[in-house]
Amino acid sequence: MNEYDSNRIYDLVSTIGFTKTKIKNEANCFILNTCHIREKATEKVYDEIGRVKKDFKNLKKPLVIISGCVAQAESEEMMKREPYIDMVIGPQSYHKINDLILNYQRKKERFNETEFDVIKKFDELQKVSNSQSKISSYLTIQEGCDKFCHFCVVPYTRGPEYSRPIKQIIDEANILVENGAKEIILLGQNVNAYNFYEKNKNYRLSSIIRELNDIKKLKRIRFTTSHPKDMTEDLINCYKDCKKLMPFLHLPIQSGSNHILKSMNRKHDKEYYISVIEKLKKINREIKISSDFIVGYPGESKNDFMDTVKLIEKVGFINSYSFIFSPRPGTPASDKKLNGTTENLQRLKEIQRILENFQIKNNEKYLNQFCEVLIENKVNSGEKFFGRTRYMTPVIFESEKCNLGEIVDVKITSFNQKNLFGIHKTNTYKAA
Ligand code: SF4
Repeated sequence: MNEYDSNRIYDLVSTIGFTKTKIKNEANCFILNTCHIREKATEKVYDEIGRVKKDFKNLKKPLVIISGCVAQAESEEMMKREPYIDMVIGPQSYHKINDLILNYQRKKERFNETEFDVIKKFDELQKVSNSQSKISSYLTIQEGCDKFCHFCVVPYTRGPEYSRPIKQIIDEANILVENGAKEIILLGQNVNAYNFYEKNKNYRLSSIIRELNDIKKLKRIRFTTSHPKDMTEDLINCYKDCKKLMPFLHLPIQSGSNHILKSMNRKHDKEYYISVIEKLKKINREIKISSDFIVGYPGESKNDFMDTVKLIEKVGFINSYSFIFSPRPGTPASDKKLNGTTENLQRLKEIQRILENFQIKNNEKYLNQFCEVLIENKVNSGEKFFGRTRYMTPVIFESEKCNLGEIVDVKITSFNQKNLFGIHKTNTYKAA
């Protein structure tokens, strides 16, 4: 979502004359769009400001703006601690950036803007065209979260759930497709909680997917990140008849222990999670799943950990993210007694070994097979192409002739844990 936000911030400031520069010392404004999910996020911001200060030691000071979730969570503290920061803007206030910059240029007053003004934000953003022109483009449809998992800072930094009007979303999707997008990834902190009412009609994520499925030049649709509780029947059914919806779903569970899921306030147990996956696979047997896991959550016993291992083995996730629990200030879990560091590290290594094995086994299946790849870029100084399979796996391949944005059948000749490597020849084969 930060990538989407950064692009939109650029769309806004470009209307008052700013352009991007790759030469750091030429910049007269730095906007650091920050994420608060990972540990040490705040310190990374101060480190980056330190680098800017050093680069501009003998030059005119640039305007320094901190936006995003660190700005939201630490606004006052940041302004106090680092006088080099001129402005702090929260993720739900960045539509005001132009007024704030112009005001700063007039009055030289430092500013802290962290209101949750999400309705106004999307109304304002709608007035400025989305300039993204990537083959695979992001589109935010929903923001914020009402779930309040005990480890998570999102409900405090992004605020309550908000769903954008469906017309705004479809209009933006059409612009992205006209700009060259062949794949749209619908975004939301809780994307499948999308819920918009207009003229007595209720629109859900499934409504957006079905509308997008009808856009002729669009080839692929994805969405992230989903909560298991919001995997409703209408959404599951999209996997049956929306051919452009890719059969790959990132569905975080965090732990395979019901005791830990309860302590995390996840609002579902592992049996419910498994039942959702079973429904999905019944509707479309090609569907594969990835997840997030938190290891060493306060109170996680050996048995709880083993429950997570068993769940991973049962589901066979093709690609997952795993982290050791780290407390986020202000969240309910931040006061809990932490587990031992050594034990946590051992558990993380164990879980990552199992997850990696599944990833490797999954990639191995493609060896000497053909797979369908959407070409996104050229790599290796233009000698090779980069694209992704229907399951998001990166593919690097040689081709005599192909174009960015095309879907081609690539023969896989080797692989590693994360990537597939192959060759594409015209007129030879069809993907399995
Ligand atoms: S559902 Fe996701 S975004 Fe919401 S609180 Fe839980 S982890 Fe955070």
